[in-house]
Amino acid sequence: MHRYFLIPMIGFFIIICFLVIYLQFINEDWKFLVPKTPIPEICDDMSEVKLITHDNDYLEKREFRDKKDIMNNNQIHAIYMLPCEREDRKFDVNLNIHSSLLAINKWFADKSDDQILSFDLNDKQRIDVTFLRVNKTMDWFDNKKEDKNSIRIDVSEKIKKIILTNKDYFYNFANKKFIIFFEGWERRKYINFDICGKADFNGKISIYYTYSRFKKYVGNDIILKNKKRIFTCTKNDHLNDKDDLKFGDAEATILHEILHTLGAPSKCGKNLDKQNSHVSDNSDDIMHKESGNLYLDYNNDDYYNHNIKECDDLKKNKYLIPN
Ligand SMILES: [Zn+2]
Repeated sequence: MHRYFLIPMIGFFIIICFLVIYLQFINEDWKFLVPKTPIPEICDDMSEVKLITHDNDYLEKREFRDKKDIMNNNQIHAIYMLPCEREDRKFDVNLNIHSSLLAINKWFADKSDDQILSFDLNDKQRIDVTFLRVNKTMDWFDNKKEDKNSIRIDVSEKIKKIILTNKDYFYNFANKKFIIFFEGWERRKYINFDICGKADFNGKISIYYTYSRFKKYVGNDIILKNKKRIFTCTKNDHLNDKDDLKFGDAEATILHEILHTLGAPSKCGKNLDKQNSHVSDNSDDIMHKESGNLYLDYNNDDYYNHNIKECDDLKKNKYLIPN
């Protein structure tokens, strides 16, 4: 090819490449020109954090506070939490949360010594789910640019704080742990890896993120193999529909996080990974870092029904009850 053709063509492509890099990574402001759905007036990222409701949030069978407990024991309470402007997908009233937690207990009874997790139930023997909407937008949770010290606080830390400052919404707060279904996402720490759940070892609060930052719902045309719109963080799975008791990726993630708050895996387990936070002897173990779905303590030598002396055993945890 003639150089008088080649040189200008290469030059042209280099300029285009720089332009793309500039617009994608350096100056992204143009993206804000795309029309966005207006944010409701009640949302306020500047004032103090408050729990609010939109008119449309009022639905039959929805609960905005913990219902009176039917039992006095330790319980795990479910919360459906929404940032101010996010769509209400009704996972509480449509019994998605109920069905996923039931599926978890079915799996758990099968894998354990016929024990189940002690979930907070209402008088109809359904999972008591509390609906909480916050006056903060997902942008606030994500904390992009604000904060003078430029310390980025994890979304999970903000969620935790909201629960801890609203103790009066719950009965027997001291005897409860929480599983939160958050209609948003956690900030990504790795380019190819979404954080779908979070919990502290022996903590009070576990979180399941119903969205991924990069897989959020963008129209009718994104359809998974099961003909569902994408609304989940976990790869090909979502919360269960009513009466579906399948133990899928979502349920494995949720259970994994809850078990962290119950102190699993035990620090004295035999097969902990380098960080001391997950088991490494079998990738199908629920407490493997990627939440397997076959074993509750493979070989019983890490956290459940083990024989290690002076080592906590999940089997004796107060949040487990006989099936
Ligand atoms: Zn984990």
